[in-house]
Amino acid sequence: MTFVEPLATNVSIVIGRPRTAVDALPAYRPGKAASQAEEEHGITDAIKLASNENPWGPVPAVVEAITAELAGINRYADHRATELRQRIAEWVGVDAASVTVGAGSAGILQQLLLTYVDADDEVVYPWRSFEVYPVYTQLVGGTAVTPALDDTLTSDLGTVAAAITDKTKLVLLANPNNPTGTALDIDSLRSFLAEIRDDVIVVIDEAYREFMDPVLGNPVTDVLPHHPNAVVLRTFSKAQGLAALRVGYAVGHPGVIESIDKTMVPFAVNGLAQAGAIAAIDSMDEIMERVDTLKAERGRVVAELVSRGYEIPDAQANFVYLPLGAETESVYLSLEKQGVVTRPFPGEGLRVTISSAEENDRFLASLPR
Ligand SMILES: *Cc1c(COP(=O)(O)O)cnc(C)c1O
Repeated sequence: MTFVEPLATNVSIVIGRPRTAVDALPAYRPGKAASQAEEEHGITDAIKLASNENPWGPVPAVVEAITAELAGINRYADHRATELRQRIAEWVGVDAASVTVGAGSAGILQQLLLTYVDADDEVVYPWRSFEVYPVYTQLVGGTAVTPALDDTLTSDLGTVAAAITDKTKLVLLANPNNPTGTALDIDSLRSFLAEIRDDVIVVIDEAYREFMDPVLGNPVTDVLPHHPNAVVLRTFSKAQGLAALRVGYAVGHPGVIESIDKTMVPFAVNGLAQAGAIAAIDSMDEIMERVDTLKAERGRVVAELVSRGYEIPDAQANFVYLPLGAETESVYLSLEKQGVVTRPFPGEGLRVTISSAEENDRFLASLPR
C-alpha cells in the first residue's frame, strides 16, 4: 500500500477517532525558530528572543557530566531519579519525600492535571498566563475558570479566591507570570492560601524563580510548611540553561508527591538529564553569576524602553513584556523582518526574552519607536 496523501505539516488529516477533547485542541505552536524567520524573509543573522531560553550554553561541568553518562545509555536510568531528588531536596532544604522530578516542569504540570482533575472539575488560573494551562485543562476534560489579571498585569488573588467553587480542584499561579513578568510576594500567597479551601491544590509555578527579586520571598520555606495543599514547580530549563534536556521538579507535601508520582511516564527524566541536572546543582554559583548578568541586562533594557515612553510592567523573569495592544502585530512583524524574533500575543502585547548585551542591543535598535 502507498500513501497518496502528502505528510505535509499544514494539512490536517485525522486518522482513527481521537477523543473529543484532543480533536478540539489547537496544535501547540512553539516560538518561531530564527532559521524559519531567515527563510521567510530572505535574511541572515536572525536571533530568537521568543522562548525565554538562556542565551548561553550549559556550564562546562554539565557538559562533562552528560558526556560521561553517554556511554551508558544502553541501560535504563533510575526510574525515580533517586539521587537527583535527594540532591534537589538538600539544595532547597526539604526531605527527599517532598520532591519529584519530571520531563520539564511542563511535564509535571500535566501530571498534576492527570492526578487531580476529573471531567467537569474546575481549574482556576489568572489569564493571560502560561499557554499550556488551557491545553492541559482541556485535555483532561476540566473546565478552565480564568479571572483577569489586574491593571498592572499581575495575578489578582482576590478574584482568584472568589472564582473558587466546590468543583475547583486546582489553582495554577505562574509566579512570575508568563508572559507579563509580574510577580506576587510571599505575604499575598500566604493570605490567599489561608483564605481558600484546603482541599484545593495550589500550584505555584516558579519557572523563573532565579530571576526574581529575593525580597519577594521563598514559598518552599514560607508557604509549604503551613499549607500542605500548595505545590511549588521549578525547572532547570531557564536559569540553568537546560531547556532541551527536559528536567523540572516539584516540591510539596509527601502526600501530594506520592499522588503525582503515580502518573509518572516511566524513565521520563532520562539518565543524561539526571546527570546534567545534578552537575547544574553543583555549579549554582557559576550559574547565578550568569543570572546576575541577565538581571542587569533586564534592568538596562527596561530603563531604555521606559525612556522611550513604553509602559513596562514590573519585570521579574528573563523577559520583558510590552503591552502594545492593537500595535502588537505590526511591531512584531517589523522586528521579525529585521531578524529579531519575539513572541506576540495578538491584540495584547509582545514578550521579548532578555539575552546577551549584543542581542538585546539588536532588539532595541530594531524597535520602531
Ligand atoms: C518555561 C515555563 C515552564 C516550564 O518549562 P519546562 O521546560 O517544561 O520546565 C513552566 N512554566 C512557565 C510559566 C514557563 O514559562
